[in-house]
Amino acid sequence: MLGTLAKWLRIFGFDTFYANADISDDDLFGIAKKENRVLITRDKELIQKARRENLKTVEIKTVDLDEQLTQVLSDVDVDKNTVLSRCTICNGILEDIKKNDVKDRVPEKVFSNNDVFWFCPGCNKVYWKGSHYDKMVNKIDKIKKS
Ligand SMILES: [Zn+2]
Repeated sequence: MLGTLAKWLRIFGFDTFYANADISDDDLFGIAKKENRVLITRDKELIQKARRENLKTVEIKTVDLDEQLTQVLSDVDVDKNTVLSRCTICNGILEDIKKNDVKDRVPEKVFSNNDVFWFCPGCNKVYWKGSHYDKMVNKIDKIKKS
């Protein structure tokens, strides 16, 4: 239900586990406990169950992405240095890669406009600081100020 939020939390550098719909509540709670995760959900029943298990929870009450991010991030310190440190697809930690090594893996225009690249060792996706990056940093600034 919160796939877009999960993607953004990864962009902000949070270690984010996104549960698919077919995972059981018990399995979900097991993972949350073992890996000391905060459960973020819009499911009221799930929140109540999780609280009985003494799990940390954030109940999302809106479908608006900006409000969701504000809700989650207002209590958490966001370090701008962690922006773009995690893969938005698989949650892997991004590693530096030499410009020459991405020549055949990114569009020509991206290659000529950027000097710094990262890649995900998990799924091989290549990242660079595009216009997206500025948008993200602006978003953090906005959230932190409001
Ligand atoms: Zn990845």
